[in-house]
Amino acid sequence: MDNKELWQTVLTQIQLGISKANFATWLQNTEIASKEDEVVVVSVPNAFSKEWLSNKYNKLILKILHDLDDKIKEVEYIIKPQGAKVFPVKISNGEKSNIEQLDFEEFKIDKETNLNPRYTFDNFVIGSFNELAHAAAWAVSENPGLTYNPLFIYGGVGLGKTHLLQAVGNKITGGSKKKKIKYISSEKFITGIVNAIRNHNIDVFKNNLSQIDVLIVDDVQFLAGKNKTQEEFFHAFNTLYEKNKQIILSSDRPPNAIPELEERLRSRFEGGMIADISFPDYETRLVILKNKLQEKHLGLPEDVLDYVAANVKKNIRELEGALNRLLIYSKINNSIPSLDTVKKLLKSYIFSPFDVANYKKIIEAVAKFYNLEEKDLFETTRKKEIVRPRQIAMFLLRKELKYSFPAIARKFGGKDHTTVIYAYRKINQEFEENNKLTEEIGLIKQKIYSG
Ligand code: ADP
Ligand code: MG
Repeated sequence: MDNKELWQTVLTQIQLGISKANFATWLQNTEIASKEDEVVVVSVPNAFSKEWLSNKYNKLILKILHDLDDKIKEVEYIIKPQGAKVFPVKISNGEKSNIEQLDFEEFKIDKETNLNPRYTFDNFVIGSFNELAHAAAWAVSENPGLTYNPLFIYGGVGLGKTHLLQAVGNKITGGSKKKKIKYISSEKFITGIVNAIRNHNIDVFKNNLSQIDVLIVDDVQFLAGKNKTQEEFFHAFNTLYEKNKQIILSSDRPPNAIPELEERLRSRFEGGMIADISFPDYETRLVILKNKLQEKHLGLPEDVLDYVAANVKKNIRELEGALNRLLIYSKINNSIPSLDTVKKLLKSYIFSPFDVANYKKIIEAVAKFYNLEEKDLFETTRKKEIVRPRQIAMFLLRKELKYSFPAIARKFGGKDHTTVIYAYRKINQEFEENNKLTEEIGLIKQKIYSG
């Protein structure tokens, strides 16, 4: 009897005693990895299968094997993630299993580049929601300074902008040619400039910047209204750009929707490649979950993964948070949570569009998007910077909440409701014709439904 037949016999016998779902969860993708003298080594796809088999079924498995071949005296289990190399994990009392080691890995951020090595292309899942951004980032990492310059990636929070930006940096760092790379958040950039000015060493600051081969600036929407920083950034940008040095930027919105951004900087941002990241669909969410589990060499039953992928939709950060919540639960209780428990554990992660959009959120999101105070929207003024956001707020109250025109008029200080009708029609018509507006409203809606 060869190993394959041997294991098939074991599986057939176990199958008689357990449910189909359990069988699929724990025994799928198991096989005999090796058989030497007295010891049979069984490979399993993850730490949960391993624990389950060795704790609950080891006796039975050993008995069946021993009955078939009386030389066999011991069974060992190793974890072999699908399509990956084998990670042997010995089971002996007192030794830690992968579940116990469940680590929320600590990575060291490089002091020179500020890059976190955890963000790589290898662990970046690609789907239709981010493939353009990924392709552009990859191209830039292959030929920094020569393909798309600058590269501008935008999208909502938790959707992978920082991951992608840093993946480019990490790939270039790992390359053969020594390049000077700097990753910096916009907040740090702003503080850096403010401090440099205060300490009278702006020249040193500028000089340091001009030595960089790849400059990565994250979340440039925070430069809005920061005039001094914008000015310095503009000069740094030009210096690097003229030397064919790569500049990579991210933002929560496209350059033309960043308020209070100097025109000359906006046009620089728009001068290269602009790529967006939107939301992953259900299938991609499932792939992301499975990927994260594989990284940790852990598993969860399909129905649990299905539930998480189907219900945690806000962004990838939340998806990771939900997964970690379940893994911690499993670790503490030393068991896999049932679907009912999962539902309870993940209550705070599940978002239903029906209870999130409300008056307050719409006002908040519109004001925030246009860099206004909420009360500005209610001001009696004809200033363009306010009239337009106000019309958009009215439009959204009608469209998203089905408010009546008079009700909206009352909210806006008892305006004549024909003003509201006018605003609604105007925005509604433009919405169909004007890509920029469609995009802006899309981003505002993201804020409403995720905030
Ligand atoms: P953003 O900068 O857009 O707010 P992050 O890059 O910080 O988002 O991503 C949030 C989390 O989701 C990070 O832990 C990141 O590793 C993970 N993540 C984002 N996109 C992906 C992806 N495509 N594949 C795998 N993990 C991702
Ligand atoms: Mg980020």
